[in-house]
Amino acid sequence: MVKEEIKNNKKYFICEECKLRYKEKRWAEKCQEWCKKYNSCNIEITKHAIK
Ligand SMILES: [Zn+2]
Repeated sequence: MVKEEIKNNKKYFICEECKLRYKEKRWAEKCQEWCKKYNSCNIEITKHAIK
């Protein structure tokens, strides 16, 4: 499960493996799956993260 966080009345989803934050849950889930499996980040996924 990805972590949910509310900040400034906006909801974010956090990958618990790499701590990147996403606006969309599906990306956070993809990221977490990838991070767990490969122990690295996929740039195609992390480009959707919020800086
Ligand atoms: Zn991740």
